[in-house]
Amino acid sequence: MSTVKRVDPRRPYRLSPSGLRRIVLGEKAENGQPIGAFARTNEKSRPLRTQEPAKRWHMAIAHSNRGRLDDHARDAIAAAAILATPGTGVVAVILGEVHEDLAALGADKVIVLPDLDAAKFQPHREEAVISALLNAYQPVHVFMPDNMSGDGDLGRRLIAKHESPHAATNVVELTPRHAAIRWSGGSALADAPLPRFVLLAPGGVDTELPFVGAGEEVPPPQVPDVREVFRDLGLEQTGTSELALEEADIIVAAGNGVRNVETIGALAAVLGAAVGASRVAVDEGKFPRNKQIGASGKTVSATTYFAIGISGAVQHLQGIKSCRHVIAINRDPGAAIVKRADLTVIGDAEELMQALMTRISQARNQAEVSGAEG
Ligand SMILES: Cc1cc2nc3c(=O)[nH]c(=O)nc-3n(C[C@H](O)[C@H](O)[C@H](O)COP(=O)(O)OP(=O)(O)OC[C@H]3O[C@@H](n4cnc5c(N)ncnc54)[C@H](O)[C@@H]3O)c2cc1C
Repeated sequence: MSTVKRVDPRRPYRLSPSGLRRIVLGEKAENGQPIGAFARTNEKSRPLRTQEPAKRWHMAIAHSNRGRLDDHARDAIAAAAILATPGTGVVAVILGEVHEDLAALGADKVIVLPDLDAAKFQPHREEAVISALLNAYQPVHVFMPDNMSGDGDLGRRLIAKHESPHAATNVVELTPRHAAIRWSGGSALADAPLPRFVLLAPGGVDTELPFVGAGEEVPPPQVPDVREVFRDLGLEQTGTSELALEEADIIVAAGNGVRNVETIGALAAVLGAAVGASRVAVDEGKFPRNKQIGASGKTVSATTYFAIGISGAVQHLQGIKSCRHVIAINRDPGAAIVKRADLTVIGDAEELMQALMTRISQARNQAEVSGAEG
């Protein structure tokens, strides 16, 4: 086997606290652990990014999803912090509730707007509140995830409203001096001086920071009573089987260790998850080819990925490297997936899936009873 490190020449560099870094397969961090999903920083020992009072601001804006920030939103906050000079404060503005420690992502001030949840379509109210915050803080740079779930749309509205020619969308690479986007069908990068509004493509920022922000919670401004010209018809739920794997937040994936395909479908329905599979499970005809995850299948970036009866072959791991939490169920404590997983339950897949569904339904019943009593 060749010992030469593999580098994708078209892959942009990733913004990290120590500057731009190209991801090299097989690279190890200083602590000897693989760089990326396995790297962890000791939370308690991290110093404050800066002691200097803020003379200017970077602002990161993102919607939360059921109280959580996805990796893309985390990228935007971390980018604002990494690119901040000592006299620059970082204010994170979250639309929707959030139950995460944003100081860990470098936020010095945190403004949460629970009424502006992504589940409700209220673009003009969002625009009005954020515009008020932009006027109050006058941030030099604004960082947002460029996504289809609200932030990309809001970012473009803000750019138009503030008549800012200094904006870049789908930014794949950035430094304190420049932002780059893909050009010429993705085969080349084009760059420009770092603009005021930066809408980031996913995955361009290392969110494992060696510092923390002050994390001061700031009371949210009053949401103005702006009349929406749109009528919100609400969200239409699609069946889990229709959920595209690339867009799914939760995935239940089955491998060769799963005997009963129906149980996987039932567990996915209970969790509101999409169903995926390893290549062996697909080759055996248990799942259609479009469910295959891995090097020769789909690349997914779920917040939670259940790997059930999957050994964790390198080709499979390649497809799940952007997943945030991996939960494995496997009979073999020595399986490769155990090293990648954040949590592994050792035991029989069928028994554990049934037990999990029972516990979920008990917990939901209990929550309903306490809700009715309260
Ligand atoms: C060029 C190439 C491309 C490939 N592309 C892909 C790809 O895109 N995606 C992909 O997935 N693979 C891919 N593969 C195949 C890959 O190498 C593995 O063979 C495959 O991922 C293994 O699938 P598996 O983990 O489901 O099966 P196995 O390797 O058979 O593992 C089954 C696992 O289930 C566990 N198990 C067994 N019974 C139970 C039970 N009752 N309860 C709990 N656990 C149990 C076992 O301990 C084991 O860990 C590719 C291979 C090549 C050569």
